[in-house]
Amino acid sequence: MKAALATKFGKPLIIGEVPTPEPAEGEVLIRIEACGVCHTDVHAVDGDWPVKPGLPFIPGHEGIGRVVSLGKGVKSIAVGDRVGVPWLLDACGLCDYCLTSRETLCGHARYGGYSANGGFAEFCTAPAAYVARIPQGLDPLHAGPIICAGVTTYKGLKVADCHPGEWVVISGAGGLGHLAIQYARVMGLQVAVVDVAEDKLALARSLGASLTVNASVDDPVKFMQDMIGGAHAVLVTAVSTDAFSQATGMLRRGGTCVLTGLPSGSFPISIFDTVLRCLTVRGSLVGTRADMREALAFAAAGKVRPAIEIMELEDVNTVMDRLRHGTLKGRAVLRIAHY
Ligand SMILES: [Zn+2]
Ligand SMILES: [Zn+2]
Repeated sequence: MKAALATKFGKPLIIGEVPTPEPAEGEVLIRIEACGVCHTDVHAVDGDWPVKPGLPFIPGHEGIGRVVSLGKGVKSIAVGDRVGVPWLLDACGLCDYCLTSRETLCGHARYGGYSANGGFAEFCTAPAAYVARIPQGLDPLHAGPIICAGVTTYKGLKVADCHPGEWVVISGAGGLGHLAIQYARVMGLQVAVVDVAEDKLALARSLGASLTVNASVDDPVKFMQDMIGGAHAVLVTAVSTDAFSQATGMLRRGGTCVLTGLPSGSFPISIFDTVLRCLTVRGSLVGTRADMREALAFAAAGKVRPAIEIMELEDVNTVMDRLRHGTLKGRAVLRIAHY
C-alpha cells in the first residue's frame, strides 16, 4: 500500500510502498478514504515531545474509511461500516479511569499515528472497540477533522462548565478553534475569539463569533475586560505559549481556563491572581468514546462543519510546513481514496 512514512525526526515524510497490515485479534482493517492533518502530527514527525514515537511510523489520527476485513473475535463492527481511527487508539478498559468513563486518562492508552501506524496510508488497522463510528450523511473529508479537532474542542467546552448565554473566549481560530466556535454556538454560548491572523478572525466572525480581537494589534486581556468584563471561560487552542499567558487574564472572577493547544514549553500563572479571583485552570485531552459520539452527531446534523482544504497524500509535507508556520485556514484533509 501507499503510505507517508516518518523515518527520521525533523525530516520530511517519505511517500512510498509498505506492506498492507493484517488485522490482529480484536482489530479491523480499514481502507482509508480521507485523513485530516493535525498539529500533533507535526510534533510526532519532529519528535519534539518528551515521549517520542518509535521510528519508522505512519502518522495520522483523523483517518476515516470503510472496514474491509475483521480480525479474530470482532463482533461489534461489520465489513463495510465507515469508521474513524482516533488519537485515543485504545485503552486498558480495566483501570480506575477506564471504569469511570475517563479512558483518555488511562496510563496504558495508545495513540493513533503515534504509538501505532495511523491514517496517512491507504490502509490502517485499529482496535474495533475504540474506533469512531461515522454517522450516515457525514462524508469522510468532513468527518476527519471532527474525530480529533472536533472532539477535542467539544470536550474542552464541556469541562469549561459554562451555561447558555455566558461568554467563552476561543483563543486561536485555526484547525481546533474554528470548530470550537461552532460547538460553543451549539451550546448557546456567546463567543469571543483571539487570533493574530486577520483571515482567521474573519472566518471566526462568519462562524458566529460576536467579538474578535487581533492579539498582534490590541491587548486581548484589556479588550476582554473592557468589552465583556472578562469571560466565564477561555478555551486555549492556540499553539503559541503567549496565548496561554494571556488566557487567565481574559477571565472574569470564578472563571475557568481550559488548555487544549499543545505547544512545547510552559507559562507563568500568578498565584495571587488565581487565589483572589478564584480561577480554575485545567487541561483537557481529546474526548472519550461517548464524547466522540456526541461530537460526530452534531456534525452529522449539520450544526458543525469543518472548513477544509482538500489535499493529496503527496502534499503532506507541504501541509506540515504550513502548520509549522500557522498559514493554514481551517483544516487540511488528505484525500486518500475516491469514494
Ligand atoms: Zn489531533
Ligand atoms: Zn485504563
